[in-house]
Amino acid sequence: MYDIAKIRADFPILSRSVNGKPLTYLDNGASAQKPQAVIDAISQAYSHEYSNVHRGLHYLSNLMTEQYEGVRGTIARFLGAGSENEIVLNSGTTEGINMVAYGWAMPRLQPGDEIVLSVMEHHANIVPWHFLRERQGVILKWVDVDASGALDPQAVIDAIGPRTRLVAVTHCSNVLGTVVDVKAITKGAHAKGVPVLVDGSQAAVHMPVNVVDIGCDFYAITGHKLYGPSGSGAIYIKSDRMAEMRPFLGGGDMIREVSKDTVTYNDPPMKFEAGTPGIVQTIGLGVALDYMTDIGMENIAAHEASVRDYANARLSGLNWLKVQGSTADKAAIFSFTLNGAAHAHDISTILDKKGVAVRAGHHCAGPLMDFLGVTATCRASFGMYNTKDEVDVLIDALELAHDLFA
Ligand code: PLP
Repeated sequence: MYDIAKIRADFPILSRSVNGKPLTYLDNGASAQKPQAVIDAISQAYSHEYSNVHRGLHYLSNLMTEQYEGVRGTIARFLGAGSENEIVLNSGTTEGINMVAYGWAMPRLQPGDEIVLSVMEHHANIVPWHFLRERQGVILKWVDVDASGALDPQAVIDAIGPRTRLVAVTHCSNVLGTVVDVKAITKGAHAKGVPVLVDGSQAAVHMPVNVVDIGCDFYAITGHKLYGPSGSGAIYIKSDRMAEMRPFLGGGDMIREVSKDTVTYNDPPMKFEAGTPGIVQTIGLGVALDYMTDIGMENIAAHEASVRDYANARLSGLNWLKVQGSTADKAAIFSFTLNGAAHAHDISTILDKKGVAVRAGHHCAGPLMDFLGVTATCRASFGMYNTKDEVDVLIDALELAHDLFA
């Protein structure tokens, strides 16, 4: 049984109030709250165990190294990777995708080569490719979604031409909640000899992920959305692709030997991890993933699906509100505008007065906002601890906002 009361009790922040009202935290798409187990692990590490990793021979350094390196295996299991050597630890998705852009794509792509993207990518999966466009004449090819927000895998595959060198798509839209069939896209792209990068920032939070089953070459995740600390994350890189990659950052830890004239590198994945990492953040991420795994990703997905269906039913009863994205299997992420009424920022300010935390703005998805013909939306994004009662709180607050602006 999904023990929602226990899960909620595990997250201390959920029992606080905001503006005199119980907190209704619906900004999980931006960043999720942390369970006590993660908070305790961070406190324990800094209070009793902290030291730098890898380079020390003393007790604490070995202890931290063991814990830190253990997370590589935790992430590999969480993502279904074949080997923990295919996991590069980093600060989050933004770093992971930049690493691929600089380390894999930049040395290989020529002017006129193409990267295929969907129109609903987050800026983290757009701007690194713009760098390549600006600096080396790479062409970005965009694939639209349909009116429901669905991305047709065949449309992505059809966009792949003889000059396409990479497909970079999200597994789940942070704005529409659309879940993308990245397995079908990967199969079609590979049939044309083109690697696939998947931005898993949102998907890995809401559903079981298996990178071997998907077959993709790169899969990026970010710890703070996975109920772990900010500044933690990882990217899965298939070993063949990792062998083709140049290191992106240079510094300590990623080298074997350095002299005045030469440098040799550590074995992958360490070759791609320069400098002192986010040690405690990564340890916290490991605890967060264990926490989710203990509850079960299928159970989390089923709970969120029931909250999503309830939210869908309630929101569709508001004829003055337009929700963007209506695919049946979407994640519980709802971006909406109030017809002819106030700016999303004003709506979110009113919701905040009722203790309801949502996000308002472009959600780092400029091309999608242009495609939808809006400048901003409000976004309510649900996580494993949200309830149908909280949907009701959201609806009441929205009705208040509507009354104020009508
Ligand atoms: N990709 C998607 C789909 C996201 O939602 C986000 C965060 O909002 C990111 C990438 C960037 O993640 P981070 O800022 O943690 O690197």
